[in-house]
Amino acid sequence: MIKITFPDASVREYEKGITGLEIAESISRRLAQDALAVSVNGETWDLTRPINNDSDVNILKWEDEQGKHAYWHSSAHLMAEALQMLYPGIKFGIGPAIENGFYYDVDPGAGVAIKEADFPLIEKKMMELIAAKEDIQRKSITKDDAVKMFSERDENYKVELISELEDGTITTYTQGVFTDLCRGPHLPNTSYIKAVKILSSAGAYWRGDEKRPQLTRLYGITFPKKKMLDEYLVLLEEAKKRDHRKIGKELQLFTFSQTVGSGLPLWLPKGTQLRLKLEDFLKKIQLEFDYQQVITPHIGHKQLYVTSGHYAKYGADSFKPIQTPEEGEEFLLKPMNCPHHCEIYKAFPHSYKDLPLRLAEFGTVYRYEQSGELHGLTRVRGFTQDDAHIFCTPDQVKDEFLKVVDIIFIIFNALNFQNFEAQISLRDPNDRDKYIGSDENWEKAERAIIEACEEKGLKTKIELGEAAFYGPKLDFMVKDALGRRWQLGTIQVDYNLPDRFELEYTGADNQKHRPVMIHRAPFGSMERFVALLIEHTAGKFPLWLAPTQAVVLPVSEKFNDYAYNIVKELKKFDIRAEVDDRNEKVGRKIRDNELKRIPYLLIVGEKEAENEEVSVRKQGGEDKGIVKLHTFADNILLEQNEMMNAGRV
Ligand SMILES: [Zn+2]
Ligand SMILES: [Zn+2]
Repeated sequence: MIKITFPDASVREYEKGITGLEIAESISRRLAQDALAVSVNGETWDLTRPINNDSDVNILKWEDEQGKHAYWHSSAHLMAEALQMLYPGIKFGIGPAIENGFYYDVDPGAGVAIKEADFPLIEKKMMELIAAKEDIQRKSITKDDAVKMFSERDENYKVELISELEDGTITTYTQGVFTDLCRGPHLPNTSYIKAVKILSSAGAYWRGDEKRPQLTRLYGITFPKKKMLDEYLVLLEEAKKRDHRKIGKELQLFTFSQTVGSGLPLWLPKGTQLRLKLEDFLKKIQLEFDYQQVITPHIGHKQLYVTSGHYAKYGADSFKPIQTPEEGEEFLLKPMNCPHHCEIYKAFPHSYKDLPLRLAEFGTVYRYEQSGELHGLTRVRGFTQDDAHIFCTPDQVKDEFLKVVDIIFIIFNALNFQNFEAQISLRDPNDRDKYIGSDENWEKAERAIIEACEEKGLKTKIELGEAAFYGPKLDFMVKDALGRRWQLGTIQVDYNLPDRFELEYTGADNQKHRPVMIHRAPFGSMERFVALLIEHTAGKFPLWLAPTQAVVLPVSEKFNDYAYNIVKELKKFDIRAEVDDRNEKVGRKIRDNELKRIPYLLIVGEKEAENEEVSVRKQGGEDKGIVKLHTFADNILLEQNEMMNAGRV
């Protein structure tokens, strides 16, 4: 008999060789139905694999990341099996599960293309294989046999992968006539998969190397219920409509120019307006929280980044150094603001009485990204961080975390982000040697973060072993309107840079001490944040952020002068308004400005002009009636201030 320990610490005895599926059945029919894979001592296994020793066991379902992973990875095999039947001679690269679904890189052979029109046929074949309920079987195989087997089938990509594996660790999975080199884990049989969809195809170089052959990457997704697939497809359609690149163009927020360079966004006037509003908002909050604003150059001496350690870590994959013509000195485009801020700290001696010192900068940094990786504003080569570095004593860490969380709450409220959770990344308790900094300080900081989250009543998830080698951190994971997760608002403790830059303060004991450094950026990067904001709001920004808050629509040319007067008046209140003076019917003007997501439309004709009034139409069509211009201005200021201050206590 062997002892099986469950996540709730209960223990049950089973016969040696029991499988995860049998364990699930012994607990409940329902669990056995929902089970997709099983975690055995932290490793994910097939449900059908015998367990021979005392183990910690957790039955994995769709809700578990690893359960879903096994499901989608099995779906990749299913798609490959279908492809093998439909495209004889097709060769396979790799086929992993991804965040949403899976892909397989395939080489259909010279002159053969897999087109979108072929997707339904592939899906049909997959459904046939599902109906056949083929068992998925795992087998250990020697390296020699593996090479032989895949060479015979001309699977040169697989043979290359096998050559890098160690003998004794190689397994294959077989279903029907399809066998794949694979570590697993997989579902017990193909009938677990209920609904399939091939989503798209793209070119992908073998092993990401542009000198190697280009394969076809087929993306797909599957679900255990047809309804789930339908819902996902609706969401996908909505995501396309909200794509920030599309809306960014429609609303004239930003652009890219190949002449300026890929991945280097150009902010247009309206986008700049929006971004500056966000920056001003945060600057004002930071002032209230005793931050001091600093400015540092866009380049820094190579030695600065050698000292910080960034050069050793990222130098090879970065933009190459710039050289001065005379001295041949080397400078790097600034990849991070932190080293510059360390030097600011060093410019003066510090006493414990000066701490915490909070230095903030909207600092633009440059990082090389491969051209294939660039994507709108979310993956760029130059971006601006809402960066700040807090230098404090180890005892101040908790207080500083509480304050940063306060700032983040103010921002989330002002932007109506209601769905978020905090993720705390701590040390791996079994491998404490790989971390820099004293045990005492680590414990203090880890406790500080956990307590700060508790005090703020945050929904948290603790990730052991996810901390950087130089300190624990707290991240905010925000769910957008489509339920997609974005990582925002990182607060990172750092013991490394203060050491490398030999930062000091004089303590109450008159001795020299090392400060702790905290990096924090509520927005992260302005570029990525604006992308998120566009996709979250579908371009309908909160009133206080909208680049144009109101458009005045004169019913005929006769009232253009009055319309321009209104804009001038509103400007005095800092309200951003424009006139639509096109010679169009007012209905047409309303439609066009609705498409531009303008929060308020002000329609003016003879009656309004006589009485200094405007007829107010809110975004979405709500008629707010005719009001005095000054009443409208007061209302709009009230509305935006309420929202901007929503998160303040
Ligand atoms: Zn596989
Ligand atoms: Zn930093």
